[in-house]
Amino acid sequence: MRRIAILGATGSVGQQALDLVARNPGRWQVEALTANGNAQALADAARACGAKFAAVGDPAAYGALKEALAGSGIEAAAGPEAICEAARRPSDIVLTAIVGAAGLKPTLAAVERGATIAIANKETLVCAGPVVQAAARASGAVLLPVDSEHNAIFQCFDHDQPGSVERIILTCSGGPFRTWTRTEMGQASVADACRHPVWSMGAKISVDSATLMNKGLELIEAHHLFPVGIDRLDVVVHPQSVVHSMVEYVDGSVLAQLGTPDMRIPIAFAMAWPERIATPATRLDLCAIGRLEFEAPDFERFPCLKLAWDAMRAEGSAPCILNAANEVAVAAFIAGKVGFLDIDTIVAETLATVASGPVGCLDEVLEIDLAARAAAGVQVELRTR
Ligand code: NAD
Ligand code: MG
Repeated sequence: MRRIAILGATGSVGQQALDLVARNPGRWQVEALTANGNAQALADAARACGAKFAAVGDPAAYGALKEALAGSGIEAAAGPEAICEAARRPSDIVLTAIVGAAGLKPTLAAVERGATIAIANKETLVCAGPVVQAAARASGAVLLPVDSEHNAIFQCFDHDQPGSVERIILTCSGGPFRTWTRTEMGQASVADACRHPVWSMGAKISVDSATLMNKGLELIEAHHLFPVGIDRLDVVVHPQSVVHSMVEYVDGSVLAQLGTPDMRIPIAFAMAWPERIATPATRLDLCAIGRLEFEAPDFERFPCLKLAWDAMRAEGSAPCILNAANEVAVAAFIAGKVGFLDIDTIVAETLATVASGPVGCLDEVLEIDLAARAAAGVQVELRTR
């Protein structure tokens, strides 16, 4: 039995991970589960899988969690430090499925103790990639990508000969607005933006998929996960989302990982690694799909992808500023305060106003994250409808 901690257990990725745990009795012992504020859902999940420890990030949810766990023998805790405690407890694997930079400290806590980390929380790598990688080198922690594209790349990548890789090609579904004009996007509602044509995911990543910021964050994520130069990263739009990404080698060979769009495939791969286990995912039927299409991304209609690409090239704190501004802008869009097209403007204006520079440690990352959130908040107020 391998011991696992699942951070962000009530979310889309967390729930799919728990589905795999339930389908494979005897494979994983759940050490800890965490959530932000939904104490009842967390307690139900903890009881169902027999977790030892359950923590909510929001201290106000502590009473509800204690009550919901009464008589279960499951330890309850609350607050951001309790989420880090869940990551520090002695598990073999930590699945980090918290959304946003809130996942940074807990992920780092798991990395620092040398755990195997199934990483879904891409924002952590975007805002603190070099800090996380330096900590992993020091502790011997292993990072296994859960994000479907990076999981595909991991599966196709020749880890013994990284120098033989010429290009990494990330595929992108194009999101719900792939064929929309900017004028049409200006009228887009939150429901429109969250209506992803292929994947069913949490609200924040769904909006990121509509702006293509998700692909921008994924470029930066790939830059930190794989030892390949920035100029060897590429994006191609592939509406069917069957090819999850590709690795091109110096001899011209291109290896791809294919599958139906079911996150349980990459989640199971990371959670069971180095074994492969069965999943209930629908099998790929290429004849039924008929055709696979590919097209170049459109930076004019989707400026977020360009902003992310530029931030990746700028390095230092630019990706952290980009990520923080995007989190603030997307939250404001979801709350109905700003329009869909305000998202890229808020991110661009924040990048233009917050001074960027090198980042060497966690405290510097957190300081820049805070400054960027404040600046993005000002931009939101200027545009609030
Ligand atoms: P979600 O919104 O469905 O769930 C997020 C989880 O994080 C919830 O359990 C929530 O309680 C917890 N959380 C949120 N804020 C928190 C805070 N401040 N402190 C502690 N916990 C907090 O998100 P999701 O779609 O499952 O995505 C999770 C991560 O995985 C994101 O980084 C996303 O980019 C990445 N990812 C998701 C998918 C997907 O299919 N959903 C695919 C690839 C990558
Ligand atoms: Mg992805």
